Amino acid sequence: MENYSQETLCVQAGYEAKNGEPRILPIVQSTTYKYDDADEVGKLFDLEAEGHMYSRISNPTVGALENKITVLEGGIGALATSSGQSANLIAILTICSANEHVLALSNLYGGTFTLFTSTLKKMGIEATFVDHKASSSEIQSHIKDNTKLIFAETIGNPGVDVLDIETIANIAHENSIPLVVDNTFATPYLCRPFDFGADIVTHSTTKYLDGHATSVGGIIVDSGKFDWEKSGKFPHLTSQDPTYHGLSYTEKFKEAAYIVKARVAFLRDMGNTMSPFNAFLTNIGAETLALRMERHSENAFKIAKFLENHPNVSWINYPLLESSESYELAKKYLKKGASGIISFGIKGGAKEGKKFINSLELASLVVHVGDIRTHVLHPASMTHRQLSEDQQIKAGIKPDMIRLSVGIENVDDIIRDLDKALRS
Ligand SMILES: *Cc1c(COP(=O)(O)O)cnc(C)c1O
Repeated sequence: MENYSQETLCVQAGYEAKNGEPRILPIVQSTTYKYDDADEVGKLFDLEAEGHMYSRISNPTVGALENKITVLEGGIGALATSSGQSANLIAILTICSANEHVLALSNLYGGTFTLFTSTLKKMGIEATFVDHKASSSEIQSHIKDNTKLIFAETIGNPGVDVLDIETIANIAHENSIPLVVDNTFATPYLCRPFDFGADIVTHSTTKYLDGHATSVGGIIVDSGKFDWEKSGKFPHLTSQDPTYHGLSYTEKFKEAAYIVKARVAFLRDMGNTMSPFNAFLTNIGAETLALRMERHSENAFKIAKFLENHPNVSWINYPLLESSESYELAKKYLKKGASGIISFGIKGGAKEGKKFINSLELASLVVHVGDIRTHVLHPASMTHRQLSEDQQIKAGIKPDMIRLSVGIENVDDIIRDLDKALRS
């Protein structure tokens, strides 16, 4: 399978029907699995054998989705979770413990920002936010002895700044720590962070991977390339885990140590599992990912050019516009398109912005991005509302910012709707 191109893998990877089996991925709506021999179950508990035992830990339908995304990202294994939030939570907890530190670029999704500043902080994991435009030496200056990872988004939500994956990965590796990249907006169709040195990728599958706004979900993908043993900074992956009779993840699972531990330690204990039905729907969505991302990107590029020239638009950011600060990075990392997300400002600020949103007919106001329908949102009063004004500025949220998620409808229909609302 790995030798096929992304379009083919979207459709075909992940599930293989054997002779006489259903052609379409079946929904295995079962919490549990039957075994004939008590020793076999014991081996499953000891991680001595592979197989499904209980659907909190693994399930065939969820497993097929994990396989598909693994192949699309070019990784060695994946773990699906109940939401994008739990994917980022488990991705970080598998690396960091209390009294350790994370360096994050500041232009993050609001939910990830509060995950760092509230919940992880209470767990004793401290985060430093560094401007995404900071120089390499400035980023380096914030790395401490107990820094265990760098976290960033391929395309920041909602500012749509593009991450210089290669540069940041190099900084991480010079410090013997991994780079974790939230690839939600780009999807593996537009960008594969592993190709540029990222070590772990996460997604909110709720967005483009599902693409139809039916299922909240998340996934963590492991490149298998980070050498936890050589780094020497991650004893809980390399030395003995007493809950599995003193097993060492790196010794037993080699390059899959991280993703195995995420499942058998954190998913086991926290239980934020993806349901088989959500995995089924997300898998159907992912089958058309290539087609959809092409159309999202094509529509968004046309709309970005339209907005750029509109008299009532004060500023705009879309990575593939030459006026974007991310243009050079987009040319390198987003060769196939820059997704459907545009951020822009309306002349007259927040008040006119609200009026604009209320005047739209085709595009709807929903708290969502990355599905087939066009919609808009005002981050400062919605997704990033829980951040202080200062935090909003640091996250790249201007008070007049509109986040437009361009769907796959006819582009002229969307433009007409936007134009009418902008002139109202
Ligand atoms: C939506 C989103 C999340 C959170 O995902 P949920 O599925 O809503 O929990 C995390 N990161 C990014 C970039 C997102 O857009």
